[in-house]
Amino acid sequence: MTTHYDYLAIGGGSGGLATAQRAAEYGARVAVIEPHRLGGTCVNVGCVPKKLMWTAASLAHAMEDAAGYGFQVVHPTHDWQTLKTARDAYVGKLNGIYENNLAKKGIDWIKGRARFVDAHTVQVGDKRVTASHIVIATGGQPIKPEISGAQWGITSDGFFDLTQVPRRAAVVGSGYIAVELAGVLASLGSQVSLFVRQDRILRQFDAMLSTGLMREMAAAGIEVVTHAVPAAVELSADVRTLVLADGRRYPGIDTVLWAIGRQPMTEDLSLPNAGIDVSAAGFIETDRFQNTQTPSVYAIGDVTGREALTPVAIAAGRRLADRLFNHQVDRALDYALIPTVVFSHPPIGTIGLTEAQARHSFGDSVKTYGASFVPMYHALTERKSRVEMKLVCQGPDEVIVGLHIVGQGADEMLQGFAVAVKMGATKRDFDDTLAIHPTIAEEFVTMR
Ligand code: FAD
Ligand code: NDP
Repeated sequence: MTTHYDYLAIGGGSGGLATAQRAAEYGARVAVIEPHRLGGTCVNVGCVPKKLMWTAASLAHAMEDAAGYGFQVVHPTHDWQTLKTARDAYVGKLNGIYENNLAKKGIDWIKGRARFVDAHTVQVGDKRVTASHIVIATGGQPIKPEISGAQWGITSDGFFDLTQVPRRAAVVGSGYIAVELAGVLASLGSQVSLFVRQDRILRQFDAMLSTGLMREMAAAGIEVVTHAVPAAVELSADVRTLVLADGRRYPGIDTVLWAIGRQPMTEDLSLPNAGIDVSAAGFIETDRFQNTQTPSVYAIGDVTGREALTPVAIAAGRRLADRLFNHQVDRALDYALIPTVVFSHPPIGTIGLTEAQARHSFGDSVKTYGASFVPMYHALTERKSRVEMKLVCQGPDEVIVGLHIVGQGADEMLQGFAVAVKMGATKRDFDDTLAIHPTIAEEFVTMR
């Protein structure tokens, strides 16, 4: 027997769950199709376990710094397995909360993988389901390079399965995941080398952020190997050697971690049956209303190739439900000015244009303001970590079109400033806001 729904979400991750729940709140009959635990990448192998690992790593720094504040620091030992057990239990609890939330809202969870039969019908195992509207929210998965021995390395998924801290880790990549996990591993006791294809990490961000974080990584003992194109991994007696294209060899590695990007999960969806093509990179492209080429089929989140962030998937999904089931006909996500944090050590917060992008778009009408200092927290610590901040302003009114920070507190600082930037704040608005002293954030309102 075929069951009919008003709305079907394929994928029970950030986007699929958010859109399904919003639609159900409006009274729609909804089902979520998900083969694994609910919560998707973010909850199971992304933001949540990553943030817990980041917090553990931050505590390691805090314990080191405590000596400067008069604490007798007994050199702490860290038990990775204890942390992993507690972290996995927390994630398990969240899985249960998501399941309960679906039940409370009357949403069916169909366990299995979906593939399209036609634009209104999907097959899940031996079950056939139809719906008036179907949203694809299947996210992505990490990739490995196509080189010899790539299988001897793990990805971020495998990182969360590690049962002990690697003694010597090679992290390959230069994006969010590479710098975040390199920082965690180094803080929790690994000897880490980070292999970057070009001359710097995080090339999509303002250069100040990349150079600032590379300096901090070096100070924390992370070796950043630039112009490093991986060519092979050799395995002997469970020890790996990373071989680079220019012949450089890095022996004695117990964990190679590939962090070179992710690919969309579209392959097993039988998209042609729904009349949907994918881009060359496999993404499902949509218009600003998340419409695909096929009326009644939509896509949200990482599978669309837009900014791959949980709040983006959630916001796109909620707005889509508002539009489909609550008559908000113009409701759509504004993809401009998305704030984002890299949970490196120290963290990065960034919104808007880089200085280079602003100069490219607005030429000489761009003016920047900056600050670079060691915060008061480090006045008494042996370890020193700088903060770098930048405002990118444009035009006679000096509208703030970019705001960037690398340093302690960047993660929590950015959200409030993002509201101001999104509202079109000018440098004058920042100048007219009284500082909160003594903080790091006050530098943003006192720059000259
Ligand atoms: P997902 O959350 O990936 O969910 C997709 C779901 O679809 C999965 O559960 C999958 O099993 C299911 N699925 C796939 N194919 C099918 C099918 N055929 N049928 C049924 N179900 C299917 N973002 C942040 O904002 N902050 C962070 O700190 C952050 N940290 C991250 C750390 C890591 C290590 C990683 C990998 C990602 C991180 N992200 C972070 C990104 C964030 O996790 C993603 O942007 C977000 O999860 C995307 O949500 P989604 O709904 O598009 O897809
Ligand atoms: P990213 O796309 O951020 O970075 C991967 C980088 O690896 C590329 O930009 C590229 O940099 C480099 N690279 C690509 N191919 C190779 C290769 N063959 N060999 C060596 N280096 C290579 O991907 P991630 O996997 O780090 O993260 C995926 C997405 O998940 C992020 O873009 C982000 O949207 C999201 N995420 C968000 C987080 C957060 O919000 N804090 C945390 C983690 C992930 P280059 O061209 O410079 O070599």
